[in-house]
Amino acid sequence: MTVPPDPGSAPLATAQHQLDRAVEILGYDAGLHEVLSTPRRELRVAVPLRSDDGDVRVFTGYRVQHNISRGPAKGGLRYAPGVDIDEVRALAMWMTWKCAVVDVPYGGAKGGVTIDPHAHSAAELERVTRRYTSEISPMIGPERDIMAPDIGTDERTMAWVMDTYSVNRGFTIPAVTTGKPLAVGGSLGRPTATSQGVVHTARAALRDDGVDLSEVRAAVQGFGKVGSHAARLLHEAGTRVVAVSDQHGGVRRDDGLDVPALVEHVARTGRVTGFADADAVSNTELLALDVDLLVPAAVEGVIDATSAERVKARWVVEAANGPTTTEGDRVLAERGVVVVPDILANAGGVVVSYFEWVQANQAYWWTEGEIAERLEHRMLASHQAVAALARAESVTLREAAMTIGVRRVAEAHLIRGLYP
Ligand code: GLU
Repeated sequence: MTVPPDPGSAPLATAQHQLDRAVEILGYDAGLHEVLSTPRRELRVAVPLRSDDGDVRVFTGYRVQHNISRGPAKGGLRYAPGVDIDEVRALAMWMTWKCAVVDVPYGGAKGGVTIDPHAHSAAELERVTRRYTSEISPMIGPERDIMAPDIGTDERTMAWVMDTYSVNRGFTIPAVTTGKPLAVGGSLGRPTATSQGVVHTARAALRDDGVDLSEVRAAVQGFGKVGSHAARLLHEAGTRVVAVSDQHGGVRRDDGLDVPALVEHVARTGRVTGFADADAVSNTELLALDVDLLVPAAVEGVIDATSAERVKARWVVEAANGPTTTEGDRVLAERGVVVVPDILANAGGVVVSYFEWVQANQAYWWTEGEIAERLEHRMLASHQAVAALARAESVTLREAAMTIGVRRVAEAHLIRGLYP
């Protein structure tokens, strides 16, 4: 018999709990709390698809704008079979605090389509993307809501969204999406930005404890757009990456995996399993390995109370959104594990998305060096502010990051005033 998941560990419950705690620290009243927790706009759309063999099936899509007090809504588009409105609400809320904590002038949003992208051809995914974009087009735009890739979508998806939106308006509007291919107004450095930011914050968190990345052993859960580059960049920084996994399973090698060779293996076979000179490890086992640094870079809710008890790492750097449940977080804090929270650790993606949008609006593109330098500066400044508040108030890094993010959003809301 399978045990039904605890509803308290669902992403929206986790996100709400994190907000409740920040509101408690900030001493806000119930009215402001409700404003901050309630999504500003939600749209649910039907996405009919004519499959390659002529059948028609209807998928469901969502776009949630959680908050737009600080600027246009911003956030990714997720294609996954489990996507539902509550997951999109949670992810949209995390985007709001994430943009605020790294001080980019955006609100938070997220989109999703309940579809398994691996079960469809590129042509089918293109039709789904174009119809979804068309259905939500009154809600998006460079000054309204700017989309980016997330799980199950990529730069090609962003090119289709941008093209559909632009064709319907009769001219090219590159700033409606970020994470686009370079050829249509993408930014240098965007494909690796999230992972680069993860490594910047990991380095800073370790340094706060007097440890260098080159002295530690790490495990990375997830080998997609974020996890693969994070593993590679850690390897380049001298970290011994002893295990990685993807949805099919994982591989480990105690004296360190040859990450560049593993990247080639994945390019050839589509998965990490079967990599030569490595032993198999399951996703659950990976979380409990004897490492110093654990990087969950896959999906929500993987570190719950049970897996948190088994974590041996001293630092957990959250590359995924919402990988730790409320109970998991409590256990890690009790056990003295330092958790660099998702809204800080993985914010490098949206920081370079912001740079891409600024470049598109100015029709002037920056060099790779300029982007790398500005990303590093913003990640380190944000980390410093969060770490300083955590020390001053004796709270966790998550509580400190949430406090900074929520306070910035609340300030904008209060200064603007309530209409009418
Ligand atoms: N999907 C990414 C995230 O969760 C990127 C969002 C963006 O760049 O807008 O942060």
